[in-house]
Amino acid sequence: MPLKKHLKELLYIFLFAAIFLAAPVVEAQGQTSGNTFSQSIETKHSTIRYDSINVLKKLDGKLDYSPGEWSLGKLFSASGSEGPIASVKKKVDALFERAQEILGMRGKVKKVIINICANQRELHDAYYRITGRQCRIRAWYIFRTNRIFINVNDVHEGMLAHEMAHSIIDHYLMVPPPRTTAEILARYVDAHLYE
Ligand SMILES: [Zn+2]
Repeated sequence: MPLKKHLKELLYIFLFAAIFLAAPVVEAQGQTSGNTFSQSIETKHSTIRYDSINVLKKLDGKLDYSPGEWSLGKLFSASGSEGPIASVKKKVDALFERAQEILGMRGKVKKVIINICANQRELHDAYYRITGRQCRIRAWYIFRTNRIFINVNDVHEGMLAHEMAHSIIDHYLMVPPPRTTAEILARYVDAHLYE
């Protein structure tokens, strides 16, 4: 793109930085996966891990997104025309591809592992096992193991797109950017999901 336009976009990103830098950091620096989950499904861009079909059904209800029809997402998922597995797969891949599109980072990257905790206690336990600290965040992404952790009772499409954006950013670039830069870009993705 022309240099002038590029500079304009950079400026926009840094304006977002000014707004968001005061907010708490939502990434954890963990070394191990922390959790084991009994079930998993493969999608084009991710491996989703969970413990019961009820968790997946709940996730389906929380993610209001489908390719090209995002505003009707809830209506479609409520229609019962497809099961929760097919529906979640479609939504997660659509969100991943939308994040790639917003970032301008298309192409094949490593599949991200999405661990779906059944409640806040499970999420907090996982965080404690990984970091040895009390959990004060709602979701996180670990670069080393390429894993996302979310609580199914407290997730929405923007939050998941944000965490997937971290995986895309860190694996698309030869050298992962500084954490602050990655955070700015990931927040840009969840703020512009519907544009
Ligand atoms: Zn983040």
